[in-house]
Amino acid sequence: MTDANAPATPEDAPTRSLNFIQEIVEGDNRSGKWDSKVHTRFPPEPNGYLHIGHAKSICLNFGIAEKYGGMCNLRFDDTNPVKEEQEYIDAIIDDVRWLGFDWNDQPLYASSYFEKMYGWAVQLIKDGKAYVCDLPLDKVRELRGSLKTPGQNSPFRDRSIDESLDLFDKMRGGDFPDGSKTLRAKINMSHPNMNLRDPVMYRILHASHPKTGGDWCVYPMYDWAHGLEDSIEGITHSICTLEFEDHRPLYDWFLNALDLHHPQQIEFARLELTHTLMSKRKLLELVQEKIVSGWDDPRMPTLRGMRRRGYPSQAIRVFCDKVGVAKMHSTVDFALLEHCVRNVLNKTAPRFMGVLNPLKVVIENYPEGDGEELDAINNPEDPESGSRKVPFSREIYVERDDYMEDPPRKFFRLGIGREVRLRYAYFVTCTEVIKDENGEVIELRCTYDPATRGGDSPDGRKVKGTIHWVSANHALPAEVRLYEHLFAKENPSDTQEGEDYRVNLGENSLTALPNAMIEPALKDADPGFQLQFERKGYFCVDPDSTPDKLVFNQTVSLKDAWAKMKKKDGAR
Ligand code: ATP
Ligand code: MG
Repeated sequence: MTDANAPATPEDAPTRSLNFIQEIVEGDNRSGKWDSKVHTRFPPEPNGYLHIGHAKSICLNFGIAEKYGGMCNLRFDDTNPVKEEQEYIDAIIDDVRWLGFDWNDQPLYASSYFEKMYGWAVQLIKDGKAYVCDLPLDKVRELRGSLKTPGQNSPFRDRSIDESLDLFDKMRGGDFPDGSKTLRAKINMSHPNMNLRDPVMYRILHASHPKTGGDWCVYPMYDWAHGLEDSIEGITHSICTLEFEDHRPLYDWFLNALDLHHPQQIEFARLELTHTLMSKRKLLELVQEKIVSGWDDPRMPTLRGMRRRGYPSQAIRVFCDKVGVAKMHSTVDFALLEHCVRNVLNKTAPRFMGVLNPLKVVIENYPEGDGEELDAINNPEDPESGSRKVPFSREIYVERDDYMEDPPRKFFRLGIGREVRLRYAYFVTCTEVIKDENGEVIELRCTYDPATRGGDSPDGRKVKGTIHWVSANHALPAEVRLYEHLFAKENPSDTQEGEDYRVNLGENSLTALPNAMIEPALKDADPGFQLQFERKGYFCVDPDSTPDKLVFNQTVSLKDAWAKMKKKDGAR
């Protein structure tokens, strides 16, 4: 099956010139800024599962390290024990590996630097650059001022160094309740950049941490910790999303005050996708409110969800590469991601026949009790994939919508008196339709032409339609799940006053077809197995499968909306 580490296929290989980050790195390598060393990191907070936006950051950071013979750390930014869990840590490690990236060492943890950071905080207090503040957090926020008005000094700003040292020690010792004190940097309460208005460095949280357990009851704030983490690890290029541009002066302030190694921070625009939300908070709500079945629901934009849906990791990497990196925000069409998925699966996924909405067909002139095996090609795109045998008999199933009562002229499938090709089998002509007492079509009667075995006519007779089928006696029952976007609206955050993103949830994002019939060759397919059901799209076997009934997720349909759009654009 798909090899996560396989290189992108030639036509998927990037043809673009360097992106702006690669240009910076190459410039640094030429000037010898970092002795030609390249050291990046991917720093997730373990407070949720990774999503496709994170994949972009992973591909970028690990990709740069790979391209320039450097290193990329996987580092958990585990500074907020209230929201972080071991479950997320394990899943993130697994997802990064699944994407095809590896790092030499064990993953790193910001929490393993807590002692060092604490020491630096003490140093800043001693240097008169930090102080313990007794204001509650909401008061701190209130006195910060706004973009238009300067902030006000805390009444505790000028307390003595010794008093702050003593209080900070007691904060660590557990003498004070949550939220009663903070340690703040002493910078400038009227600084035009709000991030530099005496930001909080530590807060009191009597909470157990997944790694450090009950060792700490003061935890560093992200802005204090993040630059230090990069510095400790000797990161050269600290690549982050645009919203951190305004935080850079603060990281620099801390590193200057402590005279530490300065990584170069480079900001890029985060990935946004149509019909997709990437806020971890909202994704967690979808899980908690059971709007989806879990973080790995195939409709989720998480790597877990996409993996369960059948997206090959290689396709996600190609996608991230195609999207590129920019300084400007833009939203990428989901159809591009599906295009990349299709391109990979087209080459790697074997073809099978599966009837999603079965309608029984009896071939009246086919001898009762007889049967035979016909040759079917596994993957026309992969000559090495060979062929398999497909059983055929007098009773088969075809797709319900491959028959029409009053077919229009251009309907090249079944209708009374119409002849079609059964894929790999015979030409059949529909002779009769059988209905139940409600007028519902329950069966078709056909005749077949024995001379057309294999699907070719010896007399050169042409049929326009070819349909798929399965032999009724041999087919296996299956459930097939079809998906549409979780959010019907292109921009799920686009709502009226008083509404939230939930109003944009699509009504038909999951359709389960419990009565599908599939080729017996799929009997032993394992969860994760990727395939194409001819004419129906790419699918994969879901972990919900049982020995008696396989469950399939539709990964993508066969219609390439992206290629179509491109063609239209080109034609203009
Ligand atoms: P939050 O901080 O709100 O919990 P987050 O998505 O920023 O959410 P992190 O765990 O901090 O979560 O993200 C880890 C890394 O992934 C960060 O470096 C971040 O910049 C990057 N990242 C997150 N979302 C995207 C996105 N949509 N596109 C590109 N990079 C992203
Ligand atoms: Mg973040």
